[in-house]
Amino acid sequence: MKISPKKSLGQNFLTDKKILNQIVNLGEIDKNDTIIEIGPGTGNLTEEILKKNPKNFTVIEKDKNLVQILKNKFGNRIEIINEDILKFSHNKYDNKKIIIFGNLPYNISTQILVNWLRIENLENYCKKFILLFQKEVAERITAEDNSKNYGRLSILSSWKLDIKKIKDINPSSFFPSPKVMSSLLVLEPKKNYYNLKNSKNLEHITNIFFNQRRKMIKKPMKLIFKNFEDVAKSLSLDLNLRPQNLSKLTYYKICSYYEKLLN
Ligand code: SAH
Repeated sequence: MKISPKKSLGQNFLTDKKILNQIVNLGEIDKNDTIIEIGPGTGNLTEEILKKNPKNFTVIEKDKNLVQILKNKFGNRIEIINEDILKFSHNKYDNKKIIIFGNLPYNISTQILVNWLRIENLENYCKKFILLFQKEVAERITAEDNSKNYGRLSILSSWKLDIKKIKDINPSSFFPSPKVMSSLLVLEPKKNYYNLKNSKNLEHITNIFFNQRRKMIKKPMKLIFKNFEDVAKSLSLDLNLRPQNLSKLTYYKICSYYEKLLN
């Protein structure tokens, strides 16, 4: 079957054998592992993962044509789910501690990540994520405070995940070549992280702060808290600072205050 990659589905297939091998090795796959691959495409990475003989292997691919190709190629050696990852329910993998791979469709990569962060007890669900992002997005995920890429995504991701950047990957490693550089990240769920009730609250708080990232934090604080001056005082917050000056921990504390208000 002839393949014509669909731009709308972010189809840039990874073709560089060396990088495919490196990605699989980062998984440290053991024969008892359960693997999920997001957006397997034509199965380049899938094929390398299969060589490690994982116990269970499921791939989730939205494109019907590609699903047919995968079925022809792999038969029943893997479970192939023809679904949109954004609509996929994670519940049936409870307590399996899966390893998740994905050369993600870049147009929805941040939404995919935010959805994973919403999973309660993520540390019991997933051992690690090995993911490719557009380089700019990887920079936002890994940014520290007081830097230009620092924001919502950095604060949300570091809340539950230890993140390591492995390397940047050139467009020439893909077919068709994307217009952007890519980065390979390994993200491991933390065993202990700041106790918040619901990640949606942290999404909400960081949204309000970073909606106007150049304004002083007095404004978002006022929007969130009636008694914003008291909250600021108890957190020793200078209301003249900008959103990017506050540490991640400060955001978790602000969110915790906000959650107390919701009761
Ligand atoms: N992993 C493959 C392909 C990566 S391209 C490789 O490295 O060769 C991104 C893949 O994600 C494509 O196969 C695309 O069809 C698929 N995809 C795009 N949107 C998706 C969605 N919402 N849910 C599941 N898969 C999706």
